[in-house]
Amino acid sequence: MKYRSLVDVYEKLGTTSKRLEKTHIISEFLKKCIKENEVNEKVILLLQGKIFHPWENTEIGVAQKLMVKSINICTGSSTSEIEAEWKKTGDLGIVAHNLFSKKKQASLFAKELLVSKVYSNLRRVSEIEGKGTVDTKMQYITEVLINANPLEAKYIVRTVLGDLRIGLGKGTFRDAIVWAYFGEELQLKYSEGNIELDNDERKIYNQFVDEIQHAYDLTNDFSEIIEIIKEKGRDGLKDISLTIGKPINAMLFQKVKNIREAFETVGRPCAFEFKYDGFRLQIHKEDDKVTLFTRRLEDVSAQFPEVVKIIKENISAKSCILDSEAVGFEPNTKKYLPFQKVSQRIRRKYDVERIAEEFPVEVNIFDILYIDGKSTLDLPYKKRRELIEEIVQILDKNIVLSKRIVADDEKVAEKFYKESLESGQEGVMAKNLDSVYKPGSRVGFGVKIKPVMEPLDLVIVTAEYGEGKRSGWLTSFSLACRDENDDLLEIGKASTGLKELEAAGLSFKELTELLKPLINSSKGKEVTVTPKIIIEVAYEEIQKSPTYSSGYALRFPRVLRLREEKAIEEINSISEIENLYKMQRGRSD
Ligand code: AMP
Repeated sequence: MKYRSLVDVYEKLGTTSKRLEKTHIISEFLKKCIKENEVNEKVILLLQGKIFHPWENTEIGVAQKLMVKSINICTGSSTSEIEAEWKKTGDLGIVAHNLFSKKKQASLFAKELLVSKVYSNLRRVSEIEGKGTVDTKMQYITEVLINANPLEAKYIVRTVLGDLRIGLGKGTFRDAIVWAYFGEELQLKYSEGNIELDNDERKIYNQFVDEIQHAYDLTNDFSEIIEIIKEKGRDGLKDISLTIGKPINAMLFQKVKNIREAFETVGRPCAFEFKYDGFRLQIHKEDDKVTLFTRRLEDVSAQFPEVVKIIKENISAKSCILDSEAVGFEPNTKKYLPFQKVSQRIRRKYDVERIAEEFPVEVNIFDILYIDGKSTLDLPYKKRRELIEEIVQILDKNIVLSKRIVADDEKVAEKFYKESLESGQEGVMAKNLDSVYKPGSRVGFGVKIKPVMEPLDLVIVTAEYGEGKRSGWLTSFSLACRDENDDLLEIGKASTGLKELEAAGLSFKELTELLKPLINSSKGKEVTVTPKIIIEVAYEEIQKSPTYSSGYALRFPRVLRLREEKAIEEINSISEIENLYKMQRGRSD
């Protein structure tokens, strides 16, 4: 297939923000590929802007600077010219497009670019290691870029940098598969951004969508799903089995406010488990081979050799897939540590053994998905729990089962919730005793309960301009609280919560206009402002952090609204933040 065909699709997708239109564009493209027998893994990955599956643990690994140099080689434009254009547009893909357009006669010499060539060259870039790396990487990139027309250059650059900017979500891709492969059977009629379905038709349509979603949750791989449909039709999807070594999407729960709501949603009695403040590990074991995956499906086995060893020695099943949370603890006092303290281990590639001793983790097993050749997804929760009780040999502070009770009484559950918070955990999970394991986000199978943190009022001290279509707006804001002398101390950066459209609430535009007259100095994209604009900020947690002058940072900060009525002396103080930090889980560290 010609790379140009993919570029046509990217361009079309970029012209609309409507989900159904995007679904239509992808499904029409898939239909054409089906006819020409050209659906394959490379096309499906590239269409999503990817070269690798998440579990391959590989990235293209090309710095923006190297991309600038490659554009320089291919167009003859100087690196300073490229950088100036880049600053203006905030998108190196657009810069490549503009400069390639200026390069005259390019097409006279160009070979037609094929999808397979783009794919294989970009894959090769990631495989290069060691001496002379940069030059060789650049060779592979320029080899495809030199033959690219301006539009192709735009998308090659964006793919290399991992940001295709076509707004294509997984849900849209999933629906497009339904439309392309089963549209006729469902008699789907698309016209002008709409599909018409009556209630009964909608039910059947949703069932098809659910089937593809389930298949995706099990495989995380649209090309595999398409392969199955091609070979076995829709029925083939029912037989998708779990494969050891290939991660599946974890089951995620919605949040409820309190224990009463938990009972209402999940049923009575139900199980309550500690909600540990660590990171999720999906454990795959086949004889002596153990692989560990994060919630984002990355393989982190190399970073946790001690966990691999513990699993080999303490799990009696020959093969299994387990769901667990790894929690860090202080090696001397054995007290649990907040997630951020051990989080560095997830990316760490060197000195792994030493860091493992400094920041040991305890694995809390809470579920099982597969055992000795059979999936356990359809067993009820209570059966799955029995299975893990049978196969896990508990070794304190190494491998344990999640702490839990089965309760039908609110007081008992409240006591357990409190116990979890006091031991430094995040809250509790309430789980329905009879529900199956459904990968993905589910309602009714279980819920999470954790304390809601009071929002903070903070002042904006610096801000940063965005990129692409947001390049004219300030989109990221450093926030500060005050100390007892009313000096300001930074506590984090917020970039979510603001709206693109003014009608939707506090917008980027509105905040940018408020901040612009207050700018005192600027450096690159960052500006320093007179601290006047106070905003209310929600967050999930206060963490200790050396990054900011307050010594604290907010986890997942989100701008809620302007606090025009507040004066700067009224923003939250560092001592209030210290108190909130201590209160959040009975912490004393
Ligand atoms: P959240 O990140 O707040 O959406 O909560 C979901 C996460 O809680 C899961 O991805 C797990 O990593 C984690 N978790 C901790 N303890 C448990 C438990 N007992 N059962 C299920 N998930 C847990």
